Amino acid sequence: MSGVLTLVATPIGNLGDLSPRASEALASADLVCCEDTRRTGSLLKHAGVRAAELKRVDEHTEFDAIPVVLNRLAAGERVVLVSDAGTPGVSDPGERLVAAAVAAGHEVTTVPGPVAAIAALVASGLPTGRFVFEGFLARRGRLRDDQVEAIAAERRTVILYESPKRVAATLALLAEHCGADRRAVVARELTKLHEELRRGTLAELAEWAGDGVKGEVVVVIDGAPGPGELDDAQIVDRLSAALSEGVSRREAIDTVVAETGAKKRRVYDLALEL
Ligand code: SAM
Repeated sequence: MSGVLTLVATPIGNLGDLSPRASEALASADLVCCEDTRRTGSLLKHAGVRAAELKRVDEHTEFDAIPVVLNRLAAGERVVLVSDAGTPGVSDPGERLVAAAVAAGHEVTTVPGPVAAIAALVASGLPTGRFVFEGFLARRGRLRDDQVEAIAAERRTVILYESPKRVAATLALLAEHCGADRRAVVARELTKLHEELRRGTLAELAEWAGDGVKGEVVVVIDGAPGPGELDDAQIVDRLSAALSEGVSRREAIDTVVAETGAKKRRVYDLALEL
């Protein structure tokens, strides 16, 4: 007899985002593992769910919780893991518990739902086809430098989590290494009353953030231009030059695509911003 470990996503702000299937999984679990029993208790109350048992599993206790959870799974129980917000295992506890359950041969499943990184990416207006999630950058030291260098060279869209206190410094550092004109988006307070998607260059966003940022934020950064490719500012210059000769926007886009080999969609998006 083997139990099932289910990772259940919970809202990142708006309680209306708790899915019916998430409520069902919480209601039918023998054990609900959560980062903060009070916080999850409030969510359960909101959902009208009476959980059989809550157990604290946070970044400090995840390791010690593993044998306890494995025993419960071995007894055939249904164990649910939630985090304070969003999807467990994404910059939240879960990874080690899942690896241990898999290694012990237990079934692991998920009730997917909110995750701030994906919500920010899809609303950013930046390319979504290929992306990299970096989580939180190291706060200081060699690792932070290496991470920033890697982001500067990364061709895919990059998603970062950051604290509101550090976001201005991080944006300024990114502007220094990726170029002041690299496009980026700060997604703030997603799904909440004061949700804001602030779009601009890294330099513009660093200046905006310098006045202080409140709430939770995700930073989405456009990928680096490939070797020989023009960056956004250079393409905008070419578009402006073509338009100043009196051609239509469509003709200007076609000319710049033909001259530079840049993707039409990218040139079109930049032309819309002019
Ligand atoms: N597991 C969560 C998820 O699925 O997104 C992430 C947890 S991580 C500890 C918390 C970080 O997620 C915050 O510092 C912020 O970067 C981001 N975040 C969470 N909720 C957010 C929201 N409503 N708006 C913007 N960013 C959010």
